Amino acid sequence: KDFFGLEKEGKNKRYVAIIGGGLVGTLATLYFAKRGWDVNLFELHPRIPENSGNFQRSINLALSVRGLSALSKPNLDLEKIVLESAIPMKGRMIHIGKDKLSSQPYGSFGENIYSVERNFLLESLLNTVESFNNVKIYFQHQLKRCDFDTGLLEFENKEDEKMVQYTADLIVGADGAHSTVRRQLMRIINMNYQQEYIPHVYCELTIPSKVTENGNETEFVMDSNHLHIWPRYSFMLIALPNKTENDLIIFFQSNFPDFIQLIGEQQLKKEFFYNPKGSLLSIKCKPYHYRNRAIFIGDAAHCMVPFYGQGMNCGFQDVELLDSIFDKYNITSFRSDDDKLNLALEEFTNIRQPDSVAICDLAMYNYIEMRSRVISPLYLMRKKVDDWLHWLFPRRFVPLYTMISFSTMRYSEAIQRWKRQERFLNITWFTVTTGIAISVFWRYYYYRRLRW
Ligand code: FAD
Repeated sequence: KDFFGLEKEGKNKRYVAIIGGGLVGTLATLYFAKRGWDVNLFELHPRIPENSGNFQRSINLALSVRGLSALSKPNLDLEKIVLESAIPMKGRMIHIGKDKLSSQPYGSFGENIYSVERNFLLESLLNTVESFNNVKIYFQHQLKRCDFDTGLLEFENKEDEKMVQYTADLIVGADGAHSTVRRQLMRIINMNYQQEYIPHVYCELTIPSKVTENGNETEFVMDSNHLHIWPRYSFMLIALPNKTENDLIIFFQSNFPDFIQLIGEQQLKKEFFYNPKGSLLSIKCKPYHYRNRAIFIGDAAHCMVPFYGQGMNCGFQDVELLDSIFDKYNITSFRSDDDKLNLALEEFTNIRQPDSVAICDLAMYNYIEMRSRVISPLYLMRKKVDDWLHWLFPRRFVPLYTMISFSTMRYSEAIQRWKRQERFLNITWFTVTTGIAISVFWRYYYYRRLRW
């Protein structure tokens, strides 16, 4: 019997249960559906926009090449749909003092990342997924327990608060940072697991657009083709908890005076005190799979702090990678190739885990870069040198940001390459400065000898 309690024609057909209808789970549903599997997607919250689980999440996301590549693969014009409403961002705009701005382009050749609205992206994915008749979506179903060996899944249906059971051949956990699938799996396998909260929380504030002079439209109050940052060394723009309204305004006046003008005091007070405060954490673990029965992807496998804008991009790339490994092992939707499926899932862990660790580490590194390094003269000089070298030798020398955001190269490979480039630059720097020092010394010595 299948998920719907009906006798199925092709009894050998595999069912995949995808847990979590966030961005990654929904894209994974799409890939499995295109592969011909029968897919059941279970999501804890109601369908958007009815106040789904995203109320604590950022409104906009930076989408870059990895995410776009995964969106383009199923050939359903998803990438086009998303890009039509996205806003290209060509660099960071650094707000230094009250009026001082400095633009730092992301790429040497005018590359952009894209700002997309989270709910629009999810809605576009859901609409596409819903057009497949081999997909069934269960909203308001919270996974409570699973038995990976039998494939038995137990959910609480939030509508009537009853427990319901389903079975699946393959369980895909895309249920985010606090994944139930991962927690259930930890009980039965030796899983290495590491979790780190950073001391900062984040709170989202909305800068309203202003009405244009003709009075019919609205426009952005800041340059919309940049990601704006107010770095203040130990914090960015934002947030000391337990402030009184007065403290808050004084704090913003002394640290972000231009921002108060943009948002307005009333809105700042309202949003700062009433919008939820989100914690930020980083999670690394291994393995990501259990035999041929389960796998987890996205934030469930590798939650990262958001400072590289890669969490979703990386999750989307997980889906693309899993699909390409399925292609390699020729995994069909029939139950005949269980051993191959086991190998495929194992290969996913082996390839993806070092890459996830690499990007989690880089995101943590950028946590410092964004709030302090971006205004250091040494950093700016170094960035200019990197951009210039990339412009001169586009293939031989590629800045780290370009490798991460504008290529689909493995994250771990990008880090290794970056370290090699750093070593080369440091050696060159050392050789040149030592050479200059020796020649200055030599000339000085030589003239002294001449005079003597
Ligand atoms: P989630 O989005 O967490 O989705 C998990 C889903 O599973 C949810 O819908 C949840 O309701 C459901 N669920 C949970 N438990 C259960 C259960 N037991 N049963 C059933 N369903 C369940 N990434 C970028 O690429 N670019 C950015 O610019 C960016 N900015 C960010 C800014 C902030 C402030 C934050 C916090 C994150 C940012 N990210 C960004 C990261 C990005 O939001 C995440 O990586 C991405 O949302 C992960 O998607 P996911 O589907 O794996 O997990």
